[in-house]
Amino acid sequence: MIDLHAHTDRSDGSTDAAELVRFAVSEGIEALGIADHDTLAGYDAALPAAAESGLELVCAVELSTRPSEPKEEGKRQPSVHLLGYWLLSPPSAEFRCWLESQQESRRRRNLELVAKLEQLGVPVSLDEAEVYGRNQVGRPHFARVLRDKGYVSSMQEAFDLYLADEAKASVERDEPTLEKGIQQITESGGIAALAHPVRLPQRGPELASLLERLIDDGLQGLEVFHSEHSPADMAEYGELARRFDLVPTGGSDFHGDNKPHIRLGTGIDSNISLSYSFLENMREMCAARQHRTSDTV
Ligand code: AMP
Ligand code: FE
Ligand code: FE
Ligand code: ZN
Repeated sequence: MIDLHAHTDRSDGSTDAAELVRFAVSEGIEALGIADHDTLAGYDAALPAAAESGLELVCAVELSTRPSEPKEEGKRQPSVHLLGYWLLSPPSAEFRCWLESQQESRRRRNLELVAKLEQLGVPVSLDEAEVYGRNQVGRPHFARVLRDKGYVSSMQEAFDLYLADEAKASVERDEPTLEKGIQQITESGGIAALAHPVRLPQRGPELASLLERLIDDGLQGLEVFHSEHSPADMAEYGELARRFDLVPTGGSDFHGDNKPHIRLGTGIDSNISLSYSFLENMREMCAARQHRTSDTV
């Protein structure tokens, strides 16, 4: 069994990187993709433990991006998650540098968020959020503190009232466009795959035309298997991947205690199960593409 989409506490998961490696081994995982949001810190931190235990670690990232189309009046486009996988070579130094600049924009956003929450009478300090956020404090960590301090009764209520894109304390972060994200991943030697397409507003023909457009921009993969996908979704996305020659990817989107219903490797109620050959297929497809590209230049 493999799992190519897991989060550590270096983004919004609850599990320490080395601990996640040991847990994966104990669950019988043969290859683990750590795909933290906008950082490779969890992957880097997991490397020694993986080497020690003989677990194959797959280098990945999940970028938060925004579609570049003009917004509806006054509304932000919903965020689109983009996965990057480095299956043949490690990510470039330039890419790591670019990721650092993304962290900077989140830090700036967090300062504004702290000020807004204070004005709204529900103060949360950066220190309080950092208890959960470690190297990368995101909105889910603020949600936890808002709940812990009794300002709201659940993390979802914290989002609904304060943190969601259109909520009272909303602060726009300087997120890369979807196209920019694809370009950054591709230029650094990775393949870019659209994450959990079930969360996109587009379905059917609309999704197909979005994919065609993104393939022109360099998209190479589609997350076919994901905890939130029904069997019908997986069939539909699998068909789209075949039709557009996209590399199928998959994983649970494990976040530890932050999303306790999702299990590493098996997803929600065992709705996913990927064998090692799935990863081999991804690698073969990537190698074939690299070969084709080098033939044409
Ligand atoms: P950040 O990258 O710090 O802006 O936080 C984004 C994360 O917050 C997403 O990956 C989701 O996990 C979570 N999130 C964003 N909007 C919502 C929402 N409306 N309800 C619940 N969780 C949300
Ligand atoms: Fe997440
Ligand atoms: Fe995601
Ligand atoms: Zn994820």
